[in-house]
Amino acid sequence: MKIDSLIKQNYNISKQIPLSRYTFTKTGGEAEYLAFPKNLEQLQMLVAAANEDGLDITVIGNASNLIISDKGIAGLVIILTDMNEIKLDGDTVEAQAGATIVKTAFFAANHGLSGLEFAAGIPGSVGGAVFMNAGAYGGESEQAISEVTVLTRSGEIKHYSLDEMHFSYRHSLVQETGDIVVSARFKLEQGDKLKILDEMNYLNALRAYKQPLEYPSCGSVFKRPT
Ligand SMILES: Cc1cc2nc3c(=O)[nH]c(=O)nc-3n(C[C@H](O)[C@H](O)[C@H](O)COP(=O)(O)OP(=O)(O)OC[C@H]3O[C@@H](n4cnc5c(N)ncnc54)[C@H](O)[C@@H]3O)c2cc1C
Repeated sequence: MKIDSLIKQNYNISKQIPLSRYTFTKTGGEAEYLAFPKNLEQLQMLVAAANEDGLDITVIGNASNLIISDKGIAGLVIILTDMNEIKLDGDTVEAQAGATIVKTAFFAANHGLSGLEFAAGIPGSVGGAVFMNAGAYGGESEQAISEVTVLTRSGEIKHYSLDEMHFSYRHSLVQETGDIVVSARFKLEQGDKLKILDEMNYLNALRAYKQPLEYPSCGSVFKRPT
């Protein structure tokens, strides 16, 4: 098996790992293979190996919108949380898929960039936010996204413009194609840093008031399970 040869090459891959360790609900059976790629090259190698071995591939972001069966997941499960770089490019923030959308929103705010305030309390990753067109309090991911980079299941890197993403309510193109979101670019507007942070803190206070944070699926909003 090609995937077994990657394990020997010190790729971060393990066998038969309980996914309950990673999900917000703290439930879910074992992944046959579980990998945490650190960069795009590793992700490409994993996809190529799984394809060669005929293994199904399941991608997980922050596991905040998933209920995984106790039977677990056959094939290769890829968790992208180690691909979490966030960069500034003028008024655009570029974030890798495994960065949390919360961190990305605070990164933007701390650079005086407005447009991601709505995301201040959404507990998903950037990849999950793109996949779901996540939104809250009148804002949606599609309002800020300018470009999405994906790795197709056949291993090709593609760049989609906003129009090509076919966003609608909690829907995006990648739900149809099965592409793996690698990174997203958010085109934002200059704003007043303190006002932006105030708005985010206000929205988080509203959320804390409405959601019972003491329960597993909610209590992990500000702290990802380890
Ligand atoms: C307490 C709580 C509050 C929430 N509040 C909101 C809210 O206000 N608004 C909202 O929209 N949602 C909300 N959600 C739902 C959830 O946070 C979002 O849907 C989020 O976008 C999911 O991101 P994730 O990284 O956790 O995705 P996961 O749960 O890991 O995955 C969800 C789906 O996305 C796919 N996926 C994840 N990453 C990638 C990737 N890189 N490439 C391709 N596919 C990928 C997975 O395969 C899966 O099908 C909430 C959830 C909880 C538990």
